[in-house]
Amino acid sequence: MVEEAGQPAYRGRQLFEAIYGQRVESLEKITTLPQDFRASLTQRGSVIGLPAIEKKFVSADGTVRYLIALADQQTVETVWMPEGDDGEAGDGSEAGNQVERAAGRKWDRATICVSSQVGCAVDCQFCLTALLGVKRNLSAGEIVGQICAVLNDQDVSPPQDRVNLVFMGMGEPFLNYDNFMKAVRLLVEGVGLAESRMTVSTAGIVPRIYDFGAESVRPKLAISLNASNDDLRTRLMPINRKWDLDKLIAAAREFPLRSRERLTFEYVLLDQVNDAPQNAREVVELIRGLRAKVNLIALNPGPGIAFQTPAEKRVLEFQNILTSAGVPTFIRRPRGRDIFAACGQLKRTLETA
Ligand code: SAH
Repeated sequence: MVEEAGQPAYRGRQLFEAIYGQRVESLEKITTLPQDFRASLTQRGSVIGLPAIEKKFVSADGTVRYLIALADQQTVETVWMPEGDDGEAGDGSEAGNQVERAAGRKWDRATICVSSQVGCAVDCQFCLTALLGVKRNLSAGEIVGQICAVLNDQDVSPPQDRVNLVFMGMGEPFLNYDNFMKAVRLLVEGVGLAESRMTVSTAGIVPRIYDFGAESVRPKLAISLNASNDDLRTRLMPINRKWDLDKLIAAAREFPLRSRERLTFEYVLLDQVNDAPQNAREVVELIRGLRAKVNLIALNPGPGIAFQTPAEKRVLEFQNILTSAGVPTFIRRPRGRDIFAACGQLKRTLETA
């Protein structure tokens, strides 16, 4: 596009730097480019821009849920989670680099939970996003755009400000694999986010787990396990019919981990369904020998979800069985449950307002 316009190639660099590095919201704001070049780009129909923040919901714990509108008026949700100090999820163990914001808020680091599709096709029975079905994939630009919109709104710039990304919002990233991976590369090369600060979560799209392992630049991998045997998993996650636990765990075992890297297994605990001591023991057997940790998430409830949140005692007992067997196991504290921003609560509609 740059060369077609009769411009030297370095103008392309400048465009790239303005769009991803400075996260400008329009062509006019790219003041490093000559006026006549900007005008000719506009004339040729080139448009740059960011998705619009349609609504913001702010939780008592500092979490912010963004409703983000794409160019075709479809919407997705993106979640901002400050951590440490005032941000609730911090454990206080990581010192330094504390940032004091203009608004007086303090936090050590923040995590953005990113969507990859409008809706989701996977149909996990405990997840609100599943009720939408899938509307469409996000483009790589839209995946990056939602992150840039949030960074701008929070007035934050990586790498000076410590920002982590989790691809755990609406959608199944591995069913939009090429756009997701392209977004990762744009984020690394353009926005300045390190892939070591990114984690992608999959419901278990096995062939893409193999592809992902072969990528030279890639986030860390989390797998949504959520059940300890095939009967149970098929009931909770119908995708298990296509790729069962044998196939899923084989892919996990063959996954080429980098030095000091661990796999994450997520396990949403549903009261009296998958949270018995026997289930915990089955999980231990399933993942035996893997360099992995387990994140336990007590169900975040929602309208139309037929499961209950287990009592704390059951969660602790489940954790105890895993840790006693040598599996590092963490209980994920829900973030922004009061504003429907927590895991499994993202739903692209205004009804949840
Ligand atoms: N589709 C991907 C990315 C979404 S991640 C995946 O399934 O991994 C969303 C995480 O939240 C998953 O680990 C899922 O198991 C969990 N989750 C879904 N619904 C939930 C709910 N209602 N309460 C708690 N966790 C939930």
